[in-house]
Amino acid sequence: MDLGIRGRRALVCAASKGLGRACAMALAQEGVALTITARTAEALERTAAEIRAATGVAVTTVAGDIASAEGRAAALAACPDPDILVNNAGGPPPGDFRDWDREHWQRALDANMLTPILLMRAVIDRMIARRFGRIVNITSAAVLSPIPRLGLSNGARTGLTGFVAGLSRQVARHNVTINNLLPGAFLTDRLRSNAADEAKASGRAVEAVIAERAEAGPAGRVGDPAEFGAACAFLCGAQAGYIVGHNLLIDGGATHATFA
Ligand code: NAP
Repeated sequence: MDLGIRGRRALVCAASKGLGRACAMALAQEGVALTITARTAEALERTAAEIRAATGVAVTTVAGDIASAEGRAAALAACPDPDILVNNAGGPPPGDFRDWDREHWQRALDANMLTPILLMRAVIDRMIARRFGRIVNITSAAVLSPIPRLGLSNGARTGLTGFVAGLSRQVARHNVTINNLLPGAFLTDRLRSNAADEAKASGRAVEAVIAERAEAGPAGRVGDPAEFGAACAFLCGAQAGYIVGHNLLIDGGATHATFA
């Protein structure tokens, strides 16, 4: 299926690794020119080179913290007028809510709620003017089914979700769509490092923790980031203009719900 976005421009945030990288790669495979960001320049350049080699599209890199005002300004200076915006950043740390003061909350809100909102605000009017825009926010399955130790993530991402539910309906008539993708367990560095913490605490091997997590879900495996990227590209496609304000859960059936 040709998604009809060849020649479009995308800004994909936090995209040197994991789910962001997979979204960038899937868009590049559709012929979309990319601007990708991450904090660590070396890994970012490596990913950009891999995407160029695999797809031949133009890839611009912006090294910086997308949760900071400077990082966002640099990303927007490199790509001021994207047709497609994929919002992503690292997730907040786990812990006990008693340990989180205002600073912890502010960091979580900056990365996982306010940064996507400010980036949407910066690009959406030009999307409306050209009558094409696709925005995808990477959130988490925890928005639907909260993970108690990830309270900072549960709170910040649910705030973003509520805002998007309203905004997506204000812009849909201009062929600008905003949807959220909710990952369950995908095999990325973040999943590996969470598994490493758990392995250390329980005296097991990292592979055993990941295998246990995989086995626990209905699909009997963890997700491949490429599967996530493909869903993102579809939501960014020309044909997806009537898909508005959705929260698409991609978790191999792990969240037990009749509707999700
Ligand atoms: P990952 O494998 O650790 O990759 C994170 C990517 O984001 C890296 O490229 C990282 O590069 C970049 N990044 C992180 N913070 C950034 C910042 N402030 N500014 C710019 N770039 C930043 O993580 P992932 O598994 O793909 O997760 C992506 C998002 O999905 C996270 O918010 C995570 O909490 C959420 N999520 C993931 C899963 C899962 O199973 N993987 C499940 C639920 C939710 P640098 O470190 O160099 O900046």
